[in-house]
Order: sequence, then structure tokens, then C-alpha cells
Amino acid sequence: MKYENIYDISVRLGDESIDYPGDTPYFRELIWTIKDSGICDLSKLVMSAHSGTHIDMPAHFIESGGTLDSYPVQDFILPTQVVNIEDKEAIRPVELKNLNIEPGDALLFKTYNSVSGHCKTGSFSERFVYLSPEAAELCVDKEVSLVGIDYITIERYGDEAFPSHRKILGNNILVLEGINLNAVPSGRYTLLCLPLKIKGGEASPVRAVLLR
Ligand SMILES: [Zn+2]
Repeated sequence: MKYENIYDISVRLGDESIDYPGDTPYFRELIWTIKDSGICDLSKLVMSAHSGTHIDMPAHFIESGGTLDSYPVQDFILPTQVVNIEDKEAIRPVELKNLNIEPGDALLFKTYNSVSGHCKTGSFSERFVYLSPEAAELCVDKEVSLVGIDYITIERYGDEAFPSHRKILGNNILVLEGINLNAVPSGRYTLLCLPLKIKGGEASPVRAVLLR
């Protein structure tokens, strides 16, 4: 099957990706180089499971919640809507409640984080458009399969209760964080976001792509 449009919505690890404060910063080191070893380039990666564009599984916040290896791969290939969000502070129910959302849809929020380039600066800012707990509740009511946001977390910075993560992951909805939707028009797509198959994993970097 040939697609007319294929959008890479992943940020590049190493310069565009944003390290969350306190989490393991992304680091890549060349251990061998072709020049010095006469053989090959060989690099080491040090990173968080939540570095760059990544998926959070229910196990991230829920004890004995679903892990990467407990989900079939088709759960990472989803019918998807990209939704424009005008509110520059938060995703709130008012911009979602009139959408035609089918149960099982993934919802990706294209916010000011994408439009302004804020999502790929490489350095963390405490101010970004986040997913309000009220909008998270609406996603649960609509039975969406995954929510995606164009910043390294869905949660308002400083909210130590993590209400949006708990609400979403507690209802077996996956979270896709750290995407860049700047080039993507709103509308319907197929989302591909395949995580690494990590035993017991609560999260994994992904290459996220939209097709239509
Ligand atoms: Zn995460």
C-alpha cells in the first residue's frame, strides 16, 4: 500500500530532544571510530526510557500495570486524529468536546509547543502546553486508545500528584510524549509508534510516524 503523506513526528535524539529535570540525560559516545580502530564506528547510548519521542505504558504509574512486552504490536498501530489546540496554556475539554471521537482512536494534540518550535529546543522549559486533568477525564470517557502531546510530558510542571498521568494510564490508555506536529495538518491518520520490546518495560523511545 502506498501512502500519499508520511509524516515523521519524532524529535531527533541528541539536539532536539529535551531531558526532563532529574531524569537521565541523553548521551551518546563513540567508543570506536573507523578512523582510530580501522574497523567501525561503535557507540554507547546512555538515556532514560523516557528520552525524546517515547511511549509511556500503564506500568509507568500503575503497580502491575501493562508493560511493553504485555501488549501486542497492533496496539501501537492506531487510527488517529490530530487535533489543533489554540489554548496556549493547557488542553482543556472545551476544545475537545465537539470532536467526533470513535472509541479506540488515538488523539494527538497539536499545540503551541509544536507551532512555536518549543517542542524541539533541546532544553527544558517549565512552561509548556499540558494536558489538564479535566481533558484527561474526557479522553477516558471517549475511550481513546492513546493520547499524544508535543512536549516531553503531558503533566503540568510542578504537579506532584500527576493527575493526568494517573487518570490516563490508570484507564489503560497509552501516552505518546515528545512528538513534533508542526508540519502536520489536523485530521485523520494512521499512527505508527513501535516501542522496543523490553521485558517488563514501563516506557520506550519510539520512531513515531503518521500515514494517510
Ligand atoms: Zn514518559
